[in-house]
Parts: sequence; structure tokens; C-alpha cells
Amino acid sequence: MTYIQFLGAATTVTGSKHLINTGGFQVLVDCGLFQGPKEWRERNWQELPIPASEIDAVVLTHAHLDHCGWIPRLVKSGYTGPVYATPATIDLCSVLLPDSGHLQEEDAAFANKKKTSRHDPALPLYTMQEALDCLKQFKPVEVGSVQRLNPDFTFSFVRAAHILGSTMAEITVPGAGGPRRLLFTGDIGRVRDTQVAPGKVVHSGPQEGESADLLVMESTYGNRLHPTTDPRPELAKLISDTAKRGGVVVVPAFAVERTEKFLFLLKEMMEAGEIPRLPVHVDSPMAIKAVEIFLKYKDEFNEQTKSLIARFGSPLQWDGFHFDQKVDESKKINDSKYPMVIVSSSGMATGGRIVHHLAQRLPEPKNQVIFIGFQAPGTRGALIKSGAKSVRIFGQDIPVRAQVAAIEQFSDHADTPELLEWLRRFKKQPAVTYLVHGEPAASSQLRLAMTSALRWKVEVAQYMQRVDVR
Ligand SMILES: [Zn+2]
Repeated sequence: MTYIQFLGAATTVTGSKHLINTGGFQVLVDCGLFQGPKEWRERNWQELPIPASEIDAVVLTHAHLDHCGWIPRLVKSGYTGPVYATPATIDLCSVLLPDSGHLQEEDAAFANKKKTSRHDPALPLYTMQEALDCLKQFKPVEVGSVQRLNPDFTFSFVRAAHILGSTMAEITVPGAGGPRRLLFTGDIGRVRDTQVAPGKVVHSGPQEGESADLLVMESTYGNRLHPTTDPRPELAKLISDTAKRGGVVVVPAFAVERTEKFLFLLKEMMEAGEIPRLPVHVDSPMAIKAVEIFLKYKDEFNEQTKSLIARFGSPLQWDGFHFDQKVDESKKINDSKYPMVIVSSSGMATGGRIVHHLAQRLPEPKNQVIFIGFQAPGTRGALIKSGAKSVRIFGQDIPVRAQVAAIEQFSDHADTPELLEWLRRFKKQPAVTYLVHGEPAASSQLRLAMTSALRWKVEVAQYMQRVDVR
């Protein structure tokens, strides 16, 4: 009997890991890291319910760490099989996974120095070298090509339009009454969006007209609505006003996808005369690598991005855009007192170079911080966004006197109406849908919306739950 077991991203948005077992043949769809509160992160240290060495294949939907960040640990635990992913996902993983290993090593070193861990010595979940080594097991699979893993098990990728290289996995397995088609959505991008998700770099809209017997679907924004207004006027006002008062605009942003989206939008607005031509500093070595990878996959670009690159070439060469690779280039930005835009990571200001820029710019009322991404509760970003009068940075209380704004239109996830629109276009209604990758409130709200609007049978997946494929 074929079954699916939810080993992560059940009643949470991290640690995506779904095991398919077809009578002994075992495939993991995604292998993500648990992130956020300690109770979740501790799951990264637990072994899987089956030995890693007995897994036959990993099918990876995209390069976000909550979907791929546990692969080095899986390999460390004895997994020797292939990791199937699109070429763009593999390129992004080759940057993101070693960086994740580096951060794990830094965390362990910090815990040892401060004696904050109950383990002595504290060890990294995996090292940068282990992350580099696991990349050898990645095997490229193009979107649309059918892969046969055994006589009864095939899969192919279709576009998810979430980030560069992102896909859903269509999987055919033996069921009780014959072959059954499973669809694992991974993360679902904005549905055919041109206006509502401005600056989108990759394909607009996930694959439509799907058919599946069983659907495993994300529900991150199952209880939310993205703003449908154009953010350009608000962004233009924030940037122009800051420039007029001689201030600096600081934008915390993830290096992959969000930074690129924001840069393309800035360039468009500058060329249209909507904002002044300020210097733009992209202070993130990873963003340079991400842009280089983006440029390799032009067929994934949307029309606006294609035309922007046709007119102005690589963002790495754009006039007035500076990509700061070295630490002393980054430090030099601090000396500049002139209006400019600084885009840097991490996106929630939990670490990375953005923290230095915030420490430098937050005390000045003429400066402007703009959040363009989700700020998880408890992060420094969430604190600043919520209007805190000061934040702790490098052991000091830094006063927040700068202006703070948030623009919510940049999400890479479909919201509830978009998800329902995508589901309405299914050619075949799944016999059952399991919702994963959502906080409990979001998953249960989406379940209600799907049962009332579509009359589908929907369940919220539970951690370690096993469900039979009939
Ligand atoms: Zn994602």
C-alpha cells in the first residue's frame, strides 16, 4: 500500500518534508530546515522515522531553506541517493546551502563562546564543507520532462512561479485501484499577476489546469489578502521625500528573489522619472551571486524583466547601482552622508550586513527604513516595524528615530483568493487535499474557504501523520 507521511511543514511554515512510500520504495519530496522558535529548530536534530540510507530519492521543489536546508543533514545521516531539482534550483542551492552551513558553524561557535548550549561542545547541524559536498548528489531535471524512478514511480516538474527555478511536483504512484496522480505544490507564486506583484522577475503565474487524485498544498497565506493597490506611488513618495531631506533609505531584503524584484522596480521607476536617480548600494555578496544566476535563466523572466534587461543590460552594470562585495566596500557606505538607497540582507535584520546599516542609520530622523518582506515575530525586523523606540544591536540600545514604513505587495506566495482561483482551474478535482506549510490559523481558514467555495474534501496535515493513497 502506498502512503504519504508528513515529516515537516505540518501546522508550521518550515521544515517541509513529505515521505512517499510505495511498498518499500521511498521518496522524500523536499527536505527543509525547521526555522524560527526553538521548539521547531530542535526538530532539525531528530532523526527521521526511517533510516536516511533507506530513502531512494529526493525530489526538491525549490531553493528556499525551509524546503532544501536539511539536505546536507540528510546526507550526513547516510543518504547517498540523487536529489532531483531544476537547474536554476541547483544553482541557487549551491549558494544558499554552503551559506547555511557557514551560519550553522557560526551559531555553534557563538554557543561555545557564550556557553549557551546544553551540549558541550555545541556542534553545527552541518558545516559549509558538508553542504558543498552534498551538492554532488543533485541531478538536474528540466520542467516538463518525465523521470521514471522505478517501473511504477514517475515524476515531473511544472512551474510554481514562486521564485526562480521553483516548481510543483506531479508524481504518479501505484494506488489501491491503479496508478494515482499526486500533486505536491511546494510554494505557490502569485497567480497571473502583473499589477499586484510588481517587479516580479520570474514567470507570472503557476501552471494551470492541473489534475490530481491527491493534492498536498501549501497554505502560508490561507487566511490573508495581499493589498491589490499599486505600491509604486507610495514607494516613490517615501524615496523622494527621504532624498529631499537629505536622508538615506535602508531596505532589508533577502538576497535571492526579493532583492532582485526590488532592484528591477527601482530601475523601472528611475527610468520613468518617478524617483530621483539616487545611488543604489546592494550590500550583499550573495545578491551578486543571485543576480548572476538569474541572468543564466532568461527564459524564466517575465516580459517586463526581459525588456528591462534588453534595454539596460545586466543589473550588475547598471549606472548608479553598486554591488558591494568586500567588507571595506560595505564599511565605506557608512561614510557617505548623501541620499542613497541601501539594500542589504538578512531580510528580517536578524544578522548580516543590514544590521550594521541599521545601527548606523536608525538614530537619524531624516533616514527611512522600508520593509518589503515578512517579518517573523521575535525578529529585530518585526520589532522595528512594530514601532519600537529602540533596538538592541551589538550589545547596545540603538534609538529608532528614522522613519519606518512597510510595503506588503512584494509577497512571492499566492493569497487566499489567488489560491482559490488557481484551484478552480483544476481539470480534475482531487479526492482529497492535505494542507501543509501554514500556521494553524492559516491552514484551517483555507480549509474552510476550500470546502465552502469548492466543496472539496480538505484536511490539515499533522506532524508525522501517515495517509494512505487509495
Ligand atoms: Zn519558498
